[in-house]
Amino acid sequence: MKAVVTGGAGFIGSHLCDHLIAQGHEAVALDDMSTGSESNLEQLNGHPRFELVKGSVLDRALVDEVVASGDTVFHLAAAVGVHTIVDKPLESLRTNLHGTENVVEAAVQHGARYLVASTSEVYGKNDADGITEDADRILGSPLKSRWSYAAAKGLDELVAYIHGGDSGLPCVITRFFNIVGPRQTGRYGMVVPRFVEQALAGEPITVYGEGTQRRCFGSVFDVVPAMCRLLETPAAHNRAVNLGGLEEIAIAELAQRVIKLTGSTSEVRYVPYEEAYGEGYEDMRRRMPDTSLAAGLIGYEPRWRLDDVVNSIIEHKRAGAPPHHAALAS
Ligand code: UDP
Repeated sequence: MKAVVTGGAGFIGSHLCDHLIAQGHEAVALDDMSTGSESNLEQLNGHPRFELVKGSVLDRALVDEVVASGDTVFHLAAAVGVHTIVDKPLESLRTNLHGTENVVEAAVQHGARYLVASTSEVYGKNDADGITEDADRILGSPLKSRWSYAAAKGLDELVAYIHGGDSGLPCVITRFFNIVGPRQTGRYGMVVPRFVEQALAGEPITVYGEGTQRRCFGSVFDVVPAMCRLLETPAAHNRAVNLGGLEEIAIAELAQRVIKLTGSTSEVRYVPYEEAYGEGYEDMRRRMPDTSLAAGLIGYEPRWRLDDVVNSIIEHKRAGAPPHHAALAS
């Protein structure tokens, strides 16, 4: 396949590019480099089947040109991270709404099959024991910018779904549940890399709220091949599919786990939500996927255990850490 990966210099996008190239495909990454980085793609630099195009998904002419060069589109470009969404609500909405519209319309126009990355955030405050794809979404007030990511991604899904139905093109929506791994930065939220960065620097680990909120973290190495397989599976077409891990952990416990695995002397600091995200923030108490749809469609089974994922992040951060961090690591 000749794949276009929007957000290809980002965390999941760069791993997807690696995977596509390793499988013998061609890949073009389209990225505005706002949160993605060239270092995520340095291993592909100069590869004859890989190209990085720097530009925005908001630039429709550019999107048309890039998408026309491929037969498959993976749309991962988005404003991500709770801090980004809360700090830049309008900019985030624009990227997440119009960017997706541009990419999906271009894919349909050029007859390319497409995958749109969505998120467990679309379920909002639904804290069911294993959320299935048909679960109700429970969102807070539409005027709270905290919910704008969930609202925009919900509309993105509709755009993808309606165009998929109308065009008959293979299309898949993946709902990612807290996907983590090497190359992810803690700068914009994302608790696991954040805790690892804090632990390696010997800084306090910032647990928001009481730390009783629970998450299931999934490995990027489990979900990247699943994305490709779903696009190749007709029964998955024009559906939304949960992808993530099944090992649940409370955030306070995660802090202890990271301290143990890094051998850090960091203390845990409990930070009130207001201080972390501003007034009126509503956190999800729990977010646990039911991945049986993906299991039935493609035999999806998360293989990476949380400790192994955390260790892979520690290893990656240590390799790129400044000297005083390396001393702490030894
Ligand atoms: N969190 C935390 N400390 C941090 C960053 C995040 O305690 O420094 C919490 C956050 O409030 C949430 C969980 O960790 O309950 C997961 O946050 P993340 O931003 O990774 O993903 P979310 O599940 O919120 O989309």
